[in-house]
Amino acid sequence: MNLKKSEALLQRARQIIPGGVNSPVRAFRGVGGTPPFIVRGDGSHIFDADGNSYIDYVGSWGPLLLGHRHPAVMEALRAVLEIGTSFGAPTEREIQLAEMIREAIPSMEMIRLVNSGTEATMSALRLARGFTGRTLTIKLEGCYHGHVDSLLVKAGSGVATLGIPDTAGVPAAFADSTIALPFNSVAALEEAFEKHGNHIAAVIVEPVAGNMGCIPPAPGYLEAMRELTAKHGALLIFDEVMTGFRVAHGGAQQLYAIKPDLTTIGKVIGGGLPIGAYGGRADIMSHIAPVGPVYQAGTLSGNPLAVAAGIAMLTELKKNPAIYAELEKKTAALCASAPAGITLNRVGSMFTFFFTGAAVTDYTTAKRSDTARFGRFFHHMLERGVYLAPSQFEAAFLSAAHTEEDIRKTAAAAAEFFAAG
Ligand SMILES: *Cc1c(COP(=O)(O)O)cnc(C)c1O
Repeated sequence: MNLKKSEALLQRARQIIPGGVNSPVRAFRGVGGTPPFIVRGDGSHIFDADGNSYIDYVGSWGPLLLGHRHPAVMEALRAVLEIGTSFGAPTEREIQLAEMIREAIPSMEMIRLVNSGTEATMSALRLARGFTGRTLTIKLEGCYHGHVDSLLVKAGSGVATLGIPDTAGVPAAFADSTIALPFNSVAALEEAFEKHGNHIAAVIVEPVAGNMGCIPPAPGYLEAMRELTAKHGALLIFDEVMTGFRVAHGGAQQLYAIKPDLTTIGKVIGGGLPIGAYGGRADIMSHIAPVGPVYQAGTLSGNPLAVAAGIAMLTELKKNPAIYAELEKKTAALCASAPAGITLNRVGSMFTFFFTGAAVTDYTTAKRSDTARFGRFFHHMLERGVYLAPSQFEAAFLSAAHTEEDIRKTAAAAAEFFAAG
């Protein structure tokens, strides 16, 4: 495969941007090789600087539920360009987007728009601490909530071990405010609440984990989490930045019928533009400035372009509720090609092929995957025009723009790999 121009661009990028990329996973460290530099997207496809085209299963890491350059989103963006790109003052569209979000996710009684998923989770946690007057947060090992200092922590050895930071630059005091527990273990939650119950401000969780590959919640897990948080006066925060408007119109909380206290969203609600949002119970959200004492602000928050793209996106989804059933059907058809020895996890149009024969239910079992074999699979697919996330520990996404032809080609390329062993 010819990637000469991408190779040259990567060389140039590395001179000025660390690793040549503005977000680490884009550098292909998990699979080796040169990342194609993308010049254009259209529907289910992306095109690189060397003229290669790919069926795209990354979809900008989740936002592009309707594919690249959906006409409704493009039209909304063109309309906003006529009036201005930013005012730093309230606009009517912000109310409209917030109302559309609340209509789909009723637990988000009040909503604040921000610029990324990271900002949303960071703000929701600050609010949880401000509201409860407590400092500790429980997170689940392998769940990613953006690059928030206190959340870049994975579990130590014991169940209730206080965190050790996963990255340089996080003060121990921040890491110490986080307790990391194994995903899908009710016993671990119970033990942590028994020990630290009075100090836990919130549990934050990806209700369907997507950032260690796709891992659904075990039956009863989210229910137990809801019960324990309520019993101990801690808030339950669903981080639905990936799952919101993805696994169902109302997100994972609709799918599993659980009502969290706070929810964070992003990705799909921006139609491909930078956005995030957090919201929840009105009595909690009323603690945010200027109404309450918890400060949170943003120069470009509620940006007209991002908000207009979001409204267009959510309008399309509301008009076509059948999209979710179609995505489910198409993704199930694609995933039917998983051979023996591979563990397939899927929720709606989010899925991961884990290169292990054993069930993957948490971070420990996910890490048993054969990542070297995944790397070979990744490059086999890339060479055949299929662009997957360049890491075993990511979810793949189908969009409404993927055709049966795309799925047939993808399944054929995968079958070729597995037939060769
Ligand atoms: C992507 C993601 C984030 C971070 O969002 P950014 O917009 O990249 O800051 C947070 N939580 C989850 C579950 C995500 O998938």
